[in-house]
Amino acid sequence: MTAAHEVHVAHNYHPLPVTIATGDGAWVTDSEGKRYLDMLSGYSALNFGHLNSELVQAAQDQLARLTLTSRAFYNDQLGPFTDALAALCKKDLVLPMNTGAEAVETGIKVARAWGYRVKGIAADRAKIIVAEGNFHGRTTTIVGFSDDPQAHNDFGPYAPGFVAVPYGDADAIEAAIDDDTAAILIEPIQGEGGVVLPPEGYLRRIRELATARNVLFIADEIQSGLGRVGETFACDREGVVPDVYLLGKALGGGILPVSAVVANEDVLGVIRPGEHGSTFGGNPLAATVGLKVVELLQSGRFQERSRQLGEHLRAGLEKLDGITAIRSAGLWAGVDIDPSRGTGREVAERLLARGVLAKDTHGQTLRIAPPLVIRATELDWALEQLAQALTPS
Ligand code: PLP
Repeated sequence: MTAAHEVHVAHNYHPLPVTIATGDGAWVTDSEGKRYLDMLSGYSALNFGHLNSELVQAAQDQLARLTLTSRAFYNDQLGPFTDALAALCKKDLVLPMNTGAEAVETGIKVARAWGYRVKGIAADRAKIIVAEGNFHGRTTTIVGFSDDPQAHNDFGPYAPGFVAVPYGDADAIEAAIDDDTAAILIEPIQGEGGVVLPPEGYLRRIRELATARNVLFIADEIQSGLGRVGETFACDREGVVPDVYLLGKALGGGILPVSAVVANEDVLGVIRPGEHGSTFGGNPLAATVGLKVVELLQSGRFQERSRQLGEHLRAGLEKLDGITAIRSAGLWAGVDIDPSRGTGREVAERLLARGVLAKDTHGQTLRIAPPLVIRATELDWALEQLAQALTPS
């Protein structure tokens, strides 16, 4: 099965030409039986690997008990999941949703409601400061404050109330804050932007500014969080705790969409019954998987693997020719390809032919984010394939 067989699929993606049929740990197999090492992990949704046995077992057990109630009623899985996730985040409350974009939208609603009801911003004047180069999802509000033409153009009119400043520039955030500012919404590391790390101290400055100026600090950890960078959260790299965590992707263990907004009572408590919700948000199957994900993270072993193997990956990448820049944190790297070696897409296609799955972004960048269960020897093999793929035939 290839693109020729997907005649009824809308053209909103440009997939690499491989049809995956099965997965196991860091590996997948296509419909003809060829194996590939997965160096993308479903954009970090598969941090714990394909068909992680503990996650699959938890899901299967729950599938046989109860899958959906809606929040019209209580279910016996949501309480334990939210207790564990709140504890992992050291916060009071969790608002469960499904996709990442929904968590971002929820964060925006929470920030605005907090702005009006707690901070005292005049009606309809609340502002949220965002960063240039951001990626927070695909809804109409979110793409309105994206500066990526592919994400943004032709989808207006756009929602007002967002101010974009250069990423990594805390002075620009400070200058943009005024009495109407409800929140600063940023990715602690910009993922889709190409694994862009802000300068050291940026997150600490945001924390200080948010506290001093009575503004919420919302960290979109949907891609950077849950072990990817060698810590539970990318904010941990600077010892910073945001007011609001936005989580998704790996929270569903690669099994189903699970996202969440996590904050203290004085912030998330502004949302009253009936003001927000989702038919599937907090369903018992999602809650069971989410609880198991939190339990996997509680051991710290995935964060440790990511830290150690991340150093291994970085050292290996640094030895390769044909790369103009490497940005990395834990098992997450953005690698800029020397244009004389081809585009990011061409290198990804050559990697595919050699049995490695990775994806390009923004033309020249290759994104590398293997499942955290990958072994050092497997990483070495992937690096050998990358060395070859960087040499055009
Ligand atoms: N926020 C960040 C930082 C992301 O990387 C993504 C997806 O890539 C999203 C939000 C949107 O998540 P979803 O695709 O689940 O809506």
